[in-house]
Amino acid sequence: MNVVLQLMHRLFIAATILLSALFLASCSVSKNPLRKTIKLLQKGELKDDTSYVYSLPFEKGKKYRLVQGYFGPFSHKERAALDFAMKRGTKVCAARNGVVVRVKEDGDRGGMNRKYRPYGNNIVIEHADGTRAGYWHLQFNGALVNVGDTVQQGQVIGLSGKTGYAAMPHLHLLVWRYDNNRWEQIATRFRTQKGIVYLKGWKKYKRPDNE
Ligand SMILES: [Zn+2]
Repeated sequence: MNVVLQLMHRLFIAATILLSALFLASCSVSKNPLRKTIKLLQKGELKDDTSYVYSLPFEKGKKYRLVQGYFGPFSHKERAALDFAMKRGTKVCAARNGVVVRVKEDGDRGGMNRKYRPYGNNIVIEHADGTRAGYWHLQFNGALVNVGDTVQQGQVIGLSGKTGYAAMPHLHLLVWRYDNNRWEQIATRFRTQKGIVYLKGWKKYKRPDNE
Protein backbone atom coordinates (compact mmCIF):
# COMPACT_ATOMS: atom_id res chain seq x y z
CA MET A 1 0.00 0.00 0.00
CA ASN A 2 1.28 3.42 -0.78
CA VAL A 3 1.46 6.16 1.86
CA VAL A 4 -1.73 7.93 0.81
CA LEU A 5 -3.76 4.73 0.94
CA GLN A 6 -2.33 3.87 4.35
CA LEU A 7 -3.24 7.31 5.65
CA MET A 8 -6.78 7.05 4.27
CA HIS A 9 -7.14 3.64 5.87
CA ARG A 10 -6.10 5.01 9.26
CA LEU A 11 -8.44 7.98 8.91
CA PHE A 12 -11.26 5.60 8.09
CA ILE A 13 -10.58 3.54 11.22
CA ALA A 14 -10.34 6.66 13.38
CA ALA A 15 -13.61 8.02 11.99
CA THR A 16 -15.35 4.69 12.60
CA ILE A 17 -14.19 4.61 16.23
CA LEU A 18 -15.25 8.23 16.76
CA LEU A 19 -18.69 7.69 15.21
CA SER A 20 -19.32 4.55 17.29
CA ALA A 21 -18.32 6.42 20.44
CA LEU A 22 -20.69 9.27 19.59
CA PHE A 23 -23.46 6.80 18.83
CA LEU A 24 -22.98 5.00 22.16
CA ALA A 25 -22.84 8.30 24.04
CA SER A 26 -26.05 9.56 22.45
CA CYS A 27 -27.84 6.33 23.37
CA SER A 28 -26.94 6.64 27.02
CA VAL A 29 -28.16 10.18 27.62
CA SER A 30 -30.32 10.33 30.70
CA LYS A 31 -34.11 10.46 30.31
CA ASN A 32 -34.37 12.31 33.62
CA PRO A 33 -36.39 15.52 32.96
CA LEU A 34 -34.14 17.35 35.42
CA ARG A 35 -31.34 17.14 32.83
CA LYS A 36 -33.28 19.33 30.40
CA THR A 37 -34.34 21.75 33.14
CA ILE A 38 -30.71 22.20 34.22
CA LYS A 39 -29.68 22.94 30.62
CA LEU A 40 -32.26 25.75 30.45
CA LEU A 41 -31.15 27.11 33.83
CA GLN A 42 -27.50 27.06 32.73
CA LYS A 43 -28.35 28.95 29.55
CA GLY A 44 -30.43 31.46 31.51
CA GLU A 45 -33.48 30.57 29.43
CA LEU A 46 -35.23 29.51 32.61
CA LYS A 47 -35.05 32.23 35.25
CA ASP A 48 -34.60 31.35 38.89
CA ASP A 49 -34.28 34.25 41.32
CA THR A 50 -35.49 32.74 44.55
CA SER A 51 -33.56 29.53 45.19
CA TYR A 52 -30.73 29.46 47.71
CA VAL A 53 -27.31 30.64 46.51
CA TYR A 54 -24.56 28.19 47.54
CA SER A 55 -20.90 28.98 48.06
CA LEU A 56 -18.32 27.17 45.99
CA PRO A 57 -17.03 24.39 48.29
CA PHE A 58 -13.48 25.67 48.69
CA GLU A 59 -11.58 28.64 50.09
CA LYS A 60 -12.23 32.26 49.08
CA GLY A 61 -10.18 33.45 46.13
CA LYS A 62 -9.40 29.89 44.99
CA LYS A 63 -10.27 28.57 41.54
CA TYR A 64 -10.89 24.95 40.54
CA ARG A 65 -12.01 23.23 37.39
CA LEU A 66 -15.37 21.51 37.29
CA VAL A 67 -14.20 18.38 35.46
CA GLN A 68 -17.69 16.92 35.39
CA GLY A 69 -20.98 18.77 35.74
CA TYR A 70 -24.64 17.82 36.15
CA PHE A 71 -25.47 14.67 34.16
CA GLY A 72 -21.86 14.56 32.95
CA PRO A 73 -20.80 11.92 30.43
CA PHE A 74 -18.60 9.77 32.70
CA SER A 75 -19.95 8.81 36.10
CA HIS A 76 -22.77 11.39 36.31
CA LYS A 77 -25.03 10.09 33.54
CA GLU A 78 -27.88 9.80 36.04
CA ARG A 79 -26.63 12.25 38.64
CA ALA A 80 -27.13 15.92 39.35
CA ALA A 81 -23.67 16.15 40.86
CA LEU A 82 -20.51 18.22 40.49
CA ASP A 83 -16.85 17.08 40.36
CA PHE A 84 -14.17 19.64 41.19
CA ALA A 85 -10.62 18.54 40.36
CA MET A 86 -8.42 19.27 43.37
CA LYS A 87 -5.24 17.68 44.61
CA ARG A 88 -5.33 15.57 47.76
CA GLY A 89 -5.45 17.53 50.99
CA THR A 90 -7.23 20.59 49.57
CA LYS A 91 -9.46 22.35 52.11
CA VAL A 92 -13.14 21.65 51.46
CA CYS A 93 -15.59 24.29 52.73
CA ALA A 94 -19.29 24.06 53.56
CA ALA A 95 -21.39 25.36 50.68
CA ARG A 96 -24.19 26.33 53.07
CA ASN A 97 -24.97 26.55 56.82
CA GLY A 98 -26.22 23.34 58.39
CA VAL A 99 -25.82 20.46 60.79
CA VAL A 100 -23.56 17.49 60.08
CA VAL A 101 -25.68 14.31 59.83
CA ARG A 102 -23.12 11.84 58.49
CA VAL A 103 -19.36 11.43 58.49
CA LYS A 104 -17.24 8.63 57.04
CA GLU A 105 -13.48 8.99 57.07
CA ASP A 106 -12.09 5.47 57.52
CA GLY A 107 -11.94 4.67 53.79
CA ASP A 108 -8.34 4.13 52.75
CA ARG A 109 -8.55 3.25 49.08
CA GLY A 110 -10.02 4.39 45.80
CA GLY A 111 -9.77 4.02 42.06
CA MET A 112 -11.58 3.76 38.78
CA ASN A 113 -13.62 0.71 39.65
CA ARG A 114 -17.06 0.40 41.22
CA LYS A 115 -15.66 -2.04 43.77
CA TYR A 116 -14.09 0.96 45.56
CA ARG A 117 -17.44 2.73 46.04
CA PRO A 118 -17.89 1.64 49.72
CA TYR A 119 -14.54 3.26 50.61
CA GLY A 120 -15.59 6.78 49.64
CA ASN A 121 -15.16 9.07 52.64
CA ASN A 122 -17.86 11.68 52.92
CA ILE A 123 -19.64 14.33 54.94
CA VAL A 124 -23.36 15.02 54.67
CA ILE A 125 -24.78 18.30 55.97
CA GLU A 126 -28.47 19.03 56.47
CA HIS A 127 -29.68 22.59 55.83
CA ALA A 128 -32.48 24.54 57.51
CA ASP A 129 -34.96 23.77 54.70
CA GLY A 130 -34.33 20.01 54.95
CA THR A 131 -32.12 19.73 51.87
CA ARG A 132 -28.77 17.99 52.30
CA ALA A 133 -25.36 18.39 50.70
CA GLY A 134 -22.84 15.56 50.34
CA TYR A 135 -19.08 16.04 49.99
CA TRP A 136 -17.39 12.89 48.66
CA HIS A 137 -13.97 11.21 48.16
CA LEU A 138 -12.31 12.95 51.17
CA GLN A 139 -8.89 11.69 52.14
CA PHE A 140 -8.38 9.09 54.89
CA ASN A 141 -9.18 10.81 58.25
CA GLY A 142 -10.08 13.84 56.13
CA ALA A 143 -13.23 14.94 58.02
CA LEU A 144 -12.69 17.96 60.28
CA VAL A 145 -16.23 17.93 61.69
CA ASN A 146 -18.35 15.41 63.61
CA VAL A 147 -21.97 14.32 63.40
CA GLY A 148 -24.09 16.88 65.27
CA ASP A 149 -21.76 19.83 64.62
CA THR A 150 -23.28 23.05 63.37
CA VAL A 151 -21.29 24.45 60.47
CA GLN A 152 -21.27 27.85 58.79
CA GLN A 153 -21.19 28.47 55.07
CA GLY A 154 -17.52 28.73 54.07
CA GLN A 155 -16.21 26.86 57.11
CA VAL A 156 -13.46 24.33 56.38
CA ILE A 157 -15.05 20.92 56.99
CA GLY A 158 -12.63 18.45 55.45
CA LEU A 159 -9.71 17.62 53.20
CA SER A 160 -10.23 16.35 49.67
CA GLY A 161 -8.86 13.08 48.36
CA LYS A 162 -9.49 10.15 46.06
CA THR A 163 -11.23 7.54 48.22
CA GLY A 164 -14.03 5.46 46.75
CA TYR A 165 -14.97 5.25 43.08
CA ALA A 166 -12.74 7.98 41.69
CA ALA A 167 -10.42 8.11 38.70
CA MET A 168 -8.52 11.13 40.00
CA PRO A 169 -8.36 13.26 43.16
CA HIS A 170 -11.49 15.41 43.21
CA LEU A 171 -14.44 16.59 45.28
CA HIS A 172 -17.84 15.20 44.31
CA LEU A 173 -20.56 17.54 45.58
CA LEU A 174 -24.26 16.94 45.39
CA VAL A 175 -27.45 18.31 46.93
CA TRP A 176 -30.62 16.35 47.65
CA ARG A 177 -34.18 17.35 48.47
CA TYR A 178 -36.73 15.06 50.09
CA ASP A 179 -39.81 15.03 47.90
CA ASN A 180 -42.57 12.50 47.20
CA ASN A 181 -41.20 10.20 49.91
CA ARG A 182 -37.77 9.91 48.37
CA TRP A 183 -34.46 11.74 48.18
CA GLU A 184 -33.86 13.34 44.81
CA GLN A 185 -30.79 15.14 43.56
CA ILE A 186 -31.19 18.77 42.58
CA ALA A 187 -29.13 21.46 40.86
CA THR A 188 -28.36 24.62 42.83
CA ARG A 189 -27.06 28.11 42.11
CA PHE A 190 -23.55 29.15 43.15
CA ARG A 191 -21.92 32.50 43.77
CA THR A 192 -18.81 32.78 41.57
CA GLN A 193 -16.39 35.56 40.67
CA LYS A 194 -18.52 36.09 37.56
CA GLY A 195 -21.88 36.20 39.27
CA ILE A 196 -24.54 33.75 40.39
CA VAL A 197 -24.77 30.81 38.00
CA TYR A 198 -25.63 27.17 37.47
CA LEU A 199 -22.21 25.57 37.00
CA LYS A 200 -21.24 23.90 33.72
CA GLY A 201 -18.83 21.04 33.17
CA TRP A 202 -15.20 21.69 32.19
CA LYS A 203 -15.22 25.35 33.26
CA LYS A 204 -13.05 26.79 36.00
CA TYR A 205 -14.85 28.64 38.78
CA LYS A 206 -13.41 31.10 41.26
CA ARG A 207 -14.90 31.74 44.67
CA PRO A 208 -14.91 35.53 45.16
CA ASP A 209 -12.32 36.97 47.61
CA ASN A 210 -14.91 39.17 49.23
CA GLU A 211 -17.73 36.65 49.58
ZN1 LIG B 1 -18.74 12.75 40.77
